[in-house]
Amino acid sequence: MNLVDSQVWAKTPNGILSVKSAYIEAVRYLEVSKGCEDRPGCSDASRMEAIWKLIWSLKCPSKVKHFLWRACKNALPTKQCLMHRKVIKEDKCDLCGESESSGHILWGCKVAKEAWSETKFKIDRLGRPPKDFLDVLWLLMASSGEKDWEKFAVTAWLLWNNRNSVRFRGKCKNGKTIEGEARKYVEEFRGVCLPERQEAQPAPCFNQWTPPPQGMYKVNVDAAVFKEQRCCGIGVVIRNDKGQMMGALCKKITLPWGVLEAEAKAAKTGILLAWDLGLKDIVVEGDSQLVMNALKGSVIPTLAIQKIVEGSQGCLSHFKSWRIAHVRRNNNGAAHLLARNALSVDGCVIWVEDTPPVIELQIQNDVIAMDFGPYQ
Ligand SMILES: [Zn+2]
Repeated sequence: MNLVDSQVWAKTPNGILSVKSAYIEAVRYLEVSKGCEDRPGCSDASRMEAIWKLIWSLKCPSKVKHFLWRACKNALPTKQCLMHRKVIKEDKCDLCGESESSGHILWGCKVAKEAWSETKFKIDRLGRPPKDFLDVLWLLMASSGEKDWEKFAVTAWLLWNNRNSVRFRGKCKNGKTIEGEARKYVEEFRGVCLPERQEAQPAPCFNQWTPPPQGMYKVNVDAAVFKEQRCCGIGVVIRNDKGQMMGALCKKITLPWGVLEAEAKAAKTGILLAWDLGLKDIVVEGDSQLVMNALKGSVIPTLAIQKIVEGSQGCLSHFKSWRIAHVRRNNNGAAHLLARNALSVDGCVIWVEDTPPVIELQIQNDVIAMDFGPYQ
């Protein structure tokens, strides 16, 4: 029997998330916490849920959603973050000289202020500017009035792009220009891209992908055998402990391999891709128990895959640390989708720090699952 978990949003009668319901819920949480602070404690998962739901329900390109999520998780490489990680020695904003936190560069700095002043996004009663962008989003969610959250996300994203352009190319746009570009971007996306993109995406599966231990990278691998076409497909997805994409691969092999050979080859391909990306601490995860056990050395590989397994083990020995993990296919969704997608590619396609369109929804779902913890 095949039981599939599904995800429902408890705040609307039909169980489908709407931005409005997420927003109402956010305001309700704020009211509960009134008298203590203007924003919820980040440890309060139920309150944070409203924010993550809002972000992932935005109808805009996933790179923008991922950006906003990273901004709220304090995972952007702001100067303040880099200084804390001892990568750089000072955290002065390139535009104004103040300390460059996510809240500063995306809300408090002069170009940001100029851009937001052209929009309806305002925070009342703001004493000192928020250090974290999460605070900005929280305060905005709690303030009254209808809001165009897609416009908000795109404006923040363009402000960050502008920051990078200042930092690395010495070129700066003014706030008004950025606001204008954001408006145009959202209009164009709504007009053209949205209907197509929604149709093109396969439904994600709602089981849980688990991130690797801190500092390690998870290499999810899978294979698909297309008997009629006498070929097979390989899918590899590599993410860090925050669920961010490091690399992905989709490869068609025009050989009539069996499932076991294809799965073993997928694992080897994943290991090699991780190596090529310079990742030295990996967890290889696949849904073929036989192949995973053979890689671990806990069973002797059958003759059909012996050479491939030995080759993979040779590669693994060069890594600083490595682990092998077996998961159910449902928890290996992204690699599975990529392997199935191989029929439509020519040879091999590799994405570096980018998400293949065919697995965008799946990757988002995996990240949401990370934020909410394991399903009960
Ligand atoms: Zn500044």
